[in-house]
Amino acid sequence: MTTAQDIIRSDVLAMTSYPVPDSTGLIKLDAMENPYTLPADLAQKLGEHLAGVALNRYPAPRPAELLAKLKRAMNVPARCDVLLGNGSDELISMLSVACSKPGAKVVAPAPGFVMYEMSAKFAHLEFIGVPLNADFTLDADALIAAIEEHAPALVYLAYPNNPTGTLYEDADMEHVIAAAKKSLVVIDEAYQPFAEKSWMPRAADFDNVVVMRTVSKLGLAGIRLGYMAGRPEWIIQFDKVRPPYNINVLTQATADFLLDHLDVLDAQAAELRAERAKLAREVAALPNMTVFPSAGNFLLVRVPDAAVAFETLLTSRVLIKNVGKMHPLLANCVRLTVGTAEENAQMVAALKKLALN
Ligand SMILES: *Cc1c(COP(=O)(O)O)cnc(C)c1O
Repeated sequence: MTTAQDIIRSDVLAMTSYPVPDSTGLIKLDAMENPYTLPADLAQKLGEHLAGVALNRYPAPRPAELLAKLKRAMNVPARCDVLLGNGSDELISMLSVACSKPGAKVVAPAPGFVMYEMSAKFAHLEFIGVPLNADFTLDADALIAAIEEHAPALVYLAYPNNPTGTLYEDADMEHVIAAAKKSLVVIDEAYQPFAEKSWMPRAADFDNVVVMRTVSKLGLAGIRLGYMAGRPEWIIQFDKVRPPYNINVLTQATADFLLDHLDVLDAQAAELRAERAKLAREVAALPNMTVFPSAGNFLLVRVPDAAVAFETLLTSRVLIKNVGKMHPLLANCVRLTVGTAEENAQMVAALKKLALN
């Protein structure tokens, strides 16, 4: 008789699954989802489009037409190839697996996106987090020193960073890319619709850069579609560790349809950018709250007590993310996703209660 304890890796036995809190009945402002749905007429047409999908067939592993359309719509340079992932989470996993030579390392600024570290550990890569400055700007000197010391296989730069919202300086990015001669630099633009700045036009200009994106924060978190653009010599290798049919037919058909209607999603992103500015002003006006500049659809806010803030907002049925324990630099910080005007008003009202306590 054998048990899971006999078979499963000891580090996996010691882990807990990725926590997703139950949000039933709550205003969900914890996960950077776009709060808007599709207009009814567009949803109707999408439904008709999906009705024609052959569910009995395996999906195309490298859907040429969809890739070409995506390249055009997202201004991917002609010289780049594109790899699709079941969310960019899967692309991160493929990067980790393909690079997991014995002793290989991953370097990224910290605090950063948790999946870089988790995915590295799953693939037995050593992860080194290099602290940001206290104001969450990039400590480029420290990052470059770590790159020189560790010669990592992968360097992740989230542009802008999650959970801080920071958009790193162009000159710092260039210095890091130049210093990372023995690494692949992965520029993660998950929040590009809210940043209005991008490295995509330059994705083929360096021999050690790929640019990764997702449609999740643009309003399609449910379909799970990420994409990575880079020189073919990189993309060809990562494609080898891709599960053969990783993008299901419904996701492919939805993406194909909605890439012809990107104006709808772009308009939603523009509204959210305006809401972000308004929310930042309103929260900053409350006593004892520090709002950090954000180029994402969320705000990082330092409050007197993050645990109390989380509970107080929950009492008002608003679910946010307490990131206060994620990293020492984030002490007493919470992350607020930008929602609709009504949702944001409810969140601000709840934060006001907190200020009165
Ligand atoms: C949300 C997020 C992702 C993951 O996106 P999916 O495509 O939904 O897997 C990747 N990178 C960063 C920085 C994110 O915040």
